[in-house]
Amino acid sequence: MVLHNASIDPHKSTHGYYECQACGARTTSDHRLETCPACGGDVRNIAVARE
Ligand SMILES: [Zn+2]
Repeated sequence: MVLHNASIDPHKSTHGYYECQACGARTTSDHRLETCPACGGDVRNIAVARE
């Protein structure tokens, strides 16, 4: 499931929340995600608070 920004607060997500490094698509996943479902690029997990 690909979601667009602003509708999701990553701090409320208990599961994986990923952002594609290539196209910027944000995706939530219940399991570990390593590639972007939209473009196949590398994703990083942004669910961890960085404040
Ligand atoms: Zn992508």
